Amino acid sequence: MAYDDGNVFARIVRGEIPCNRIHENEHALSFHDIAPQAPVHALVIPKGRYVSMADFAAGANAEEQADLFRAIGATAVALGVTESGYRLLTNTGPDAHQEVMHLHFHILAGKRLGPMLTGGPMPPSSAP
Ligand code: AMP
Repeated sequence: MAYDDGNVFARIVRGEIPCNRIHENEHALSFHDIAPQAPVHALVIPKGRYVSMADFAAGANAEEQADLFRAIGATAVALGVTESGYRLLTNTGPDAHQEVMHLHFHILAGKRLGPMLTGGPMPPSSAP
């Protein structure tokens, strides 16, 4: 999928719309989700034009890759959730319900989040 420069996270990176910033380094940025789905809900994004993790892994240079992962760690520290725990989640494509087509990691925390997915494990016969 081609990158769309009009997506909301691209506009945040360019400073065209505000965000509630948590952490920033040269190549990555984190901010609070506008519609939190847990008591703590942050997003960590690369500043570069990447739709997905595959896109990022193929195109981002070493500094961009390091900064994204540094920003994830620093954001968890800034949010104070490293001891209580958090879930790091990336939705990719239609099956995962990705709404914003700019790579982002959700950090969800602040309560017992339960098992991985609603509904629990699939029966073994249904697994792909
Ligand atoms: P996803 O379904 O993984 O693409 O998630 C996109 C997330 O971006 C959702 O949790 C939205 O609430 C969040 N979001 C959309 N617009 C904004 C915004 N302007 N500032 C912060 N978060 C946003």
